[in-house]
Amino acid sequence: MGLNIYNSLSRQLEEFVPLQEGKVLMYSCGPTVYDFFHIGNARTFLVSDIVRRYLEYKGFSVKLVQNLTDIDDKIINRAAELGQDASLLAKSNSEAYFEDSGCLGIRAADVHPRATEHIPEIVDLIQILMDKGAAYAVDGDVYYRVDSFCGYGKLSHRRPEDLLAGARVEVNERKEDARDFDLWKKAKPGEPWWDSPWGKGRPGWHIECSAMAMKHLGETIDIHAGGQDLQFPHHENEIAQSELATGKPFARYWMHVAFLRVNGQRMGKSERNFIFVRDALRDYSAEAIRHFLISAHYRHPLDYSSSSLKESSSAIRRLNNCLDVLKPFQSVTDPSLLDTDTLGEAEVSILDAVQSMRTGFEDAMDADFNTAKAIGEIFKFVGEVNLTLSTAGDNLSDTTKAALGRGYSGLKEKCEVLGIYSELTDSDAANSEMMDQLMKLIIDVRQTARQRKDWDTADKIRDRLKQLNIELQDTRQDVTWKIID
Ligand SMILES: [Zn+2]
Repeated sequence: MGLNIYNSLSRQLEEFVPLQEGKVLMYSCGPTVYDFFHIGNARTFLVSDIVRRYLEYKGFSVKLVQNLTDIDDKIINRAAELGQDASLLAKSNSEAYFEDSGCLGIRAADVHPRATEHIPEIVDLIQILMDKGAAYAVDGDVYYRVDSFCGYGKLSHRRPEDLLAGARVEVNERKEDARDFDLWKKAKPGEPWWDSPWGKGRPGWHIECSAMAMKHLGETIDIHAGGQDLQFPHHENEIAQSELATGKPFARYWMHVAFLRVNGQRMGKSERNFIFVRDALRDYSAEAIRHFLISAHYRHPLDYSSSSLKESSSAIRRLNNCLDVLKPFQSVTDPSLLDTDTLGEAEVSILDAVQSMRTGFEDAMDADFNTAKAIGEIFKFVGEVNLTLSTAGDNLSDTTKAALGRGYSGLKEKCEVLGIYSELTDSDAANSEMMDQLMKLIIDVRQTARQRKDWDTADKIRDRLKQLNIELQDTRQDVTWKIID
């Protein structure tokens, strides 16, 4: 089955066929860097990351461009509040964005263009719109004439009379029509500015994305992604600007990611109900946060709760346990071991499970990136491996080991597409080894205290460890430990 994408433009599932065979040109609206980003924003960025990874899994070569809006009212206002320079604020928040998204396992795009580094391209595009009669200047401001583009409203599926609903339109006597939007904003005193044929000012938000997408990907791109709130007016305006300028379709597939909600309300800066990614990463692993954020289909709202994140953390632990159990068999790669008619029950059930995970995973992802279902297929496989291993006991034959080795690579491959598994680095492995040794030492000290009947010390060690979420389990033979939720 081929890949199907729900296209917001047609409001239908469409088979994905890129413009050039084997190659995908993708643009994703990135952050406005006036602050750190929260996990609601992260949902959108993560979906782009997974779309890109899955397209690569299917053999496409993907060029992903994600912009940074580094000049905007929000940045200017925040900088003024903090008494900082707007460009320095944007710079430090851009760095924080890369740091946090990197920690969340979101791969860097191929290009991360910044608005302030594309002023000439933006000015050129506005000039084209002026020359075509689609833009007009009023005392240093330049507006897009919405009436000049007959396709206006085709993405948001709004009738012309409804086009003002939902857009925050300020009363502005200077505009010919209230729907017209800024392409260039005249600089107010003290604001950052760049020179232009219409005077000192800065670009509007919408024109930045049109100019940067066209510069780095060309006039027609395959996939344009962004949050649901960007569909109107931001993406509608991107289409109007780009298509009027080039006379060509701007983006062929439009993907919109639904909101992350808190108590039924959208997670957002203005709602003051957000959790920064960097704060969430203190409590949960990147893999757990990713697992949570893709536990619903991207077009459905997802509700945030700490219990959901805890559930994701335990799911990731279950997954890692399975991968740890399977990993030693990855070296059993002799294909002839599995190339026989005399496979036993255990091998057959593992190989069937590997195959059905692959089919289930691909069917789910092909159906408009249904990550929730794809995760379900992965965990179904984990359950089957656990069952097979508990039935097979300790004496595994070479063929069973080879089947488990195949299970390891199949499972790892799927998890890597979703970014919910990352192999331990050498330093992680060293830390984990160090942790084991330290715990052994602590348990020895406690055992010595118990032998001396020093119950106070023994209990204190156990209680203090518990505060650190480490639980000791006293068994008849020895003492083990585990990290608890
Ligand atoms: Zn954009």
